[in-house]
Amino acid sequence: RELPGDTRTDAFPREVMHACYTKVSPSAEVENPQLVAWSDLVAEALDLDPEEFQRPDFPLLFSGAALLVGALPYAQCYGGHQFGMWAGQLGDGRAITLGEIVNSRSQRWELQLKGSGRTPYSRFADGLAVLRSSIREFLCSEAMHSLGIPTTRALCLVTTGKLVTRDMFYDGNPKDEPGAIVCRVAQSFLRFGSYQIHASRGKEDLGIVRALADYAIRHHFPHIENMSRSESLSFSTGNDDQTVVDLTSNKYAAWAVDIAERTASLIARWQGVGFTHGVLNTDNMSILGLTIDYGPFGFLDAFDPSYTPNTTDLPGRRYCFANQPDIGLWNIAQFVSTLSSAELINDKEANYAMERYGTKFMDEYQGIMTRKLGLPKYNKQLIGKLLNNMAVDKVDYTNFFRALANIKADLSIPEDELLVPLKAVLLDIGKERKEAWISWVKIYIQELVNSEVSDEERKTAMNSVNPKYVLRNYLCQSAIDTAELGDFGEVRRLLKLMQRPYDEQPGMEKYARLPPAWAYRPGVCMLSCSS
Ligand code: AMP
Ligand code: MG
Ligand code: MG
Repeated sequence: RELPGDTRTDAFPREVMHACYTKVSPSAEVENPQLVAWSDLVAEALDLDPEEFQRPDFPLLFSGAALLVGALPYAQCYGGHQFGMWAGQLGDGRAITLGEIVNSRSQRWELQLKGSGRTPYSRFADGLAVLRSSIREFLCSEAMHSLGIPTTRALCLVTTGKLVTRDMFYDGNPKDEPGAIVCRVAQSFLRFGSYQIHASRGKEDLGIVRALADYAIRHHFPHIENMSRSESLSFSTGNDDQTVVDLTSNKYAAWAVDIAERTASLIARWQGVGFTHGVLNTDNMSILGLTIDYGPFGFLDAFDPSYTPNTTDLPGRRYCFANQPDIGLWNIAQFVSTLSSAELINDKEANYAMERYGTKFMDEYQGIMTRKLGLPKYNKQLIGKLLNNMAVDKVDYTNFFRALANIKADLSIPEDELLVPLKAVLLDIGKERKEAWISWVKIYIQELVNSEVSDEERKTAMNSVNPKYVLRNYLCQSAIDTAELGDFGEVRRLLKLMQRPYDEQPGMEKYARLPPAWAYRPGVCMLSCSS
């Protein structure tokens, strides 16, 4: 089939049967591509000399206009459940893997260009990406890494010098935006959907599910690969004595449990920093438990459990902040059912993986919230009351926990001074609400006194888990606005700032401020799947 503006035959949209990928070359049109920014941390992980970024042909290589020597570009086939419905084949519609690099520490890294042209998986879309969404993906990948949250990484961001048309608000008023390409980097981009697609195609393709599971275990879960070869190695089944599932006898069951636990741990960390992914479809769920696909994501400003950054998800709010833990389980259920239908695990093992998701999530989440409050042990009531208070008074999620570290473990502080350390984060609260907060702070201080940890020690510990700087939507938007005018300074500043989110960074305080009024104007910080 002929495509407008694309005469290549390797990229025509089609169902790709009995295969995990298609060889296809980057084809985005470029005209004098420019390097917007690059991550020194990712360059280091790839053993890449920073001098390389000065090469005049660097933007050509990372826009896909020139191929790297030894590159074998391909796009992956995957499927997925989108908003709860099976969507069939999706695949890398605008991402093309250039190849893999094994670094000096024997780590394997896959390099992928996002926005580099059509593939067989592009369906009705153009295979391109705009600067707006590429800046968001580039910055947030690196910000999440520095927050200590597993994620795909971003090596660099280039503009293509070409315009791309997007109807951002789906209002029939498309706009031309600058095109851009992010080079994403991960140990693997395999998703739940990479397995689902083959199982969905019936008996004939179940062998592919097994082969792809074997591949993933061999390359990315060596502890499980080795376990299955040596009977003397046992796999921890937790401390639940009623467990009858022996994970040493079936490597696929051990693998499913590992993935369930990684996913639980990932989502617990998202909840801890107030990150909402926005599009938790099964094609956006990494088997390595990485945050993958930065589209309409958002960090909480004012605490709101129903926060839904993705306007495409309104009014249903399937992927709102508070739903993420349940959605993680729903997605794991789809994944283990795929493994069951390929006869890699039985029902008992599938159920066990889901159970472990729940246990792991609660363990990690409780631990994270306990550390955020600087408490010695989990206190369900205290944390529940706090989150409730925060929701009622729309308290800034990030700044609150930073301020909380200034509370002193001192029972003699008079009542009218108890809220002084929180003054900057408890804005415009009435008398009645003040009482609710005072009563909470009193119980909190009692807990701190009981813990017998010094104020200073607790503050240091709390500040190491409660970031001062997160990539708020309005910060991204400022960097986008200036970058669209050709000034990439703010993108680079934000990258540097977000590499040390837990440090005070004198002179940068303005980046910890609440969103300004302009950020709330209709349409300004609106996000959708259109990118
Ligand atoms: P997402 O909602 O971002 O996870 O994307 C879902 C599917 O749409 C994936 O298969 C993407 O590759 C594909 N897709 C998204 N945007 C584009 C685009 N501009 N061109 C081609 N495919 C796209
Ligand atoms: Mg995706
Ligand atoms: Mg996407």
